[in-house]
Amino acid sequence: IEFVNVKKRFGNIRVMDGLNLSIHRGQITAVIGKSGSGKSVLLKHIIGLEEQDSGSIFYDGRDMAQMDRTARRKFKKRVSYMFQDNALFDAMTVFENIALPIVEKSTLSREEIKERVLTRVNQLDITGTEEKYPAQLSGGMRKRVALARALITDPEVVLFDEPTTGLDPVRKQGVHGMIKEYQAQFGFTALVVSHEIPEIFDIAQQVAMLDQGKIILQDNTEQFLRTNLDVVRCFIHGKE
Ligand code: ATP
Ligand code: MG
Repeated sequence: IEFVNVKKRFGNIRVMDGLNLSIHRGQITAVIGKSGSGKSVLLKHIIGLEEQDSGSIFYDGRDMAQMDRTARRKFKKRVSYMFQDNALFDAMTVFENIALPIVEKSTLSREEIKERVLTRVNQLDITGTEEKYPAQLSGGMRKRVALARALITDPEVVLFDEPTTGLDPVRKQGVHGMIKEYQAQFGFTALVVSHEIPEIFDIAQQVAMLDQGKIILQDNTEQFLRTNLDVVRCFIHGKE
């Protein structure tokens, strides 16, 4: 996925101001940036929840704005989004929440759906919660339910919007570990927006830094840390 000179404004706030970003296939790319810098908006552009004012976003070398409906629908099926607030449905059980994308989109039998959900439930260590409702679970468990739902379609691309927000350090590490493990296992392309610094560097192969509507730095993590450590330090300690 490639952002080329993308611009987007809301009223007089320029959220993207000529943004360029390369998201490498089969890798984990972390986008870091301050609160309000436009990280969620960036993700929303990929799945078409927001549309840029100008510039292009490419997927597999194709300009998404030029795709016809069928191509767009196909693309959407391959992409999962884990929302910042989990976006679980409170009136649905854990099982129903996780099954939703495959119930909506596919022609699997009830048995196949059940099997796939239970596989994810076991993999994510939330066995026994299937008949519970999200409100009955801890924050960490809800995250894992959301992750199970994001992974149920075997996506090619997974977008994570601050997947560890609101978790204690141990659970944070757990979620990062899961993302890393699943990504290595399934090989999907992952984009993680985060302000978990420095933890995010442990799982990302690429790091991009968003500031004032632009990606001001992007490199593989090793190189990024070698050459930009001062910038990262300032960022962590909140100095300009
Ligand atoms: P956080 O780390 O707090 O989640 P963020 O980097 O994800 O922040 P965004 O949610 O992407 O930030 O928002 C970027 C800016 O765009 C903010 O100033 C926000 O108020 C504004 N914004 C986002 N969506 C809209 C919208 N639909 N209408 C108007 N303004 C918006
Ligand atoms: Mg956000």
